[in-house]
Amino acid sequence: MGQEKLLLELQELIQKEHELKRKEDSIAMLKELKEKIKVIEATQKKYAEFKGELAEMEKSSLKQEKQINYMDQQVKTEKERLYKNKGGSLKELLGLQQSVAKMEEDIKEEEAQYWETVTKVETLKSDLKKYKENLKAMKESYNEGVREYKRTKAEVELELTQLVLKQEDIKEQLQPEALKLFERIQSKYPLNPIAIMKKGSCSGCHMSIPSIQAMEVKQGKKLCLCDNCQRILISNF
Ligand SMILES: [Zn+2]
Repeated sequence: MGQEKLLLELQELIQKEHELKRKEDSIAMLKELKEKIKVIEATQKKYAEFKGELAEMEKSSLKQEKQINYMDQQVKTEKERLYKNKGGSLKELLGLQQSVAKMEEDIKEEEAQYWETVTKVETLKSDLKKYKENLKAMKESYNEGVREYKRTKAEVELELTQLVLKQEDIKEQLQPEALKLFERIQSKYPLNPIAIMKKGSCSGCHMSIPSIQAMEVKQGKKLCLCDNCQRILISNF
C-alpha cells in the first residue's frame, strides 16, 4: 500500500480513537450514578423516619383504644349506681347524672382523638407504601445505570484496544521516515496532520497549492508538505 494511503488511514484511526474517548465520558456517567445514590439515601432516611412515626402512632392508637374501653366501663358502673340510687335524694341523683354526662363527653372527646390517630396511621401507611415503591424504582434505575456504565466502559475499552492495535499495524508498514514526519507534524496538529489536495487547495488550511507542488503531490513520489500550514499533503484518492 502507498505511504500516503497508510498515513491517511493512520490519521482516521487516530480521529476515531479521539471520538471514542470523548464518547466514553465515564465522568458524566459516574456523576449521574452518584446523584442517584444521594437521592436513594435521602429517601431511605425519610422512609425510616416515617416508619418510626408510624410505630409511635400505632402505639398511641392502642393506648387510646384501651383508655376508651376503660372509660366505657366506668360509665357503665356509674349508670348502674344511678339506677340503684333511684331512691336517693334529688341532689345525689343530679350529681350522678352530671357525672355520667361529663364522662360521656370525655369519651366522645377521646374517641375523636382516637379517630384522628387512626386516620394519621392510614395516611402514613399509604405514604410509606409510595416511598417503598419509589425506592424500588430508584434502586432499579441505579442498578441499570451501573450495568450500562460497565457495559459502555468494557465496549469502549475493547474498541480502543483494537484501534491501537490497528495503528501499530500501520506504523509497522510505514517507512520510518514517513512515520517520523507524521509524528513530528502530529505534535502540531494532533488530529489532522494529513491534508488532502482538493481542487488545487489544501484541505487543512484551504490555501491554494502552487501548480508545481500540485504535480509533485499527484505523482506521490515523495511526501510533500503544504507551504502554508506544513501539513503532509496527499492527493485525493
Ligand atoms: Zn495547508
